[in-house]
Amino acid sequence: MKKGNYIVISGPSGVGKGTICKQVVENLKLEYSISMTTREKREGEIDGVNYYFTTKDDFKNRIKNKEFIEYAIYNDNYYGTLKKEVIDKINMGKNIICEIEVQGAKQIKKLFPFALLIFITPPSIEELRNRLLKRNTNDLDDVERRINIAKEEDKYKDIYDYVVVNDDLDKAILEVNNIIANKINN
Ligand code: 5GP
Repeated sequence: MKKGNYIVISGPSGVGKGTICKQVVENLKLEYSISMTTREKREGEIDGVNYYFTTKDDFKNRIKNKEFIEYAIYNDNYYGTLKKEVIDKINMGKNIICEIEVQGAKQIKKLFPFALLIFITPPSIEELRNRLLKRNTNDLDDVERRINIAKEEDKYKDIYDYVVVNDDLDKAILEVNNIIANKINN
């Protein structure tokens, strides 16, 4: 059986990855890989839909048990991709998409060289700060920490197959949609 594709979306927190991802998942009938994290649930987030929320102890146990394809520490919390969310599904021919930060993307590219990596970038850091402040779910320190991480992450853009600027949301969705459609239909 033909293997499915593995699509990785990265980009700074607040850039609109979530919205873009949700739309392309619907349009192209992709399977969203739900990550596990130790961070606090934000308002409106649902366990088992947005993330599997867990404790640091549980996460560390799962690392020991080799349950993750990759994991990273971001802003003092663990985030990781569970093997069970990906491996069997790809082998069954499903197209998987995940939203992860740059360290994880690097690990996935190494383990799955056929993976398609897309980086979403904001038009500017000022615009990113505005979007994070508007989201209003992070305190000011958290916003500044995320901005600093964004500046660092920007340096890793080169490992990605495509970089898409999210200036106009509809245009960015269309662009990401076309890149993925092109990959999965070939
Ligand atoms: P947030 O707290 O804003 O939901 O996510 C913070 C960062 O962690 C984002 O860049 C997000 O893409 C990334 N992330 C989410 N899930 C995973 C994962 O499973 N692995 C890695 N390496 N990063 C993840």
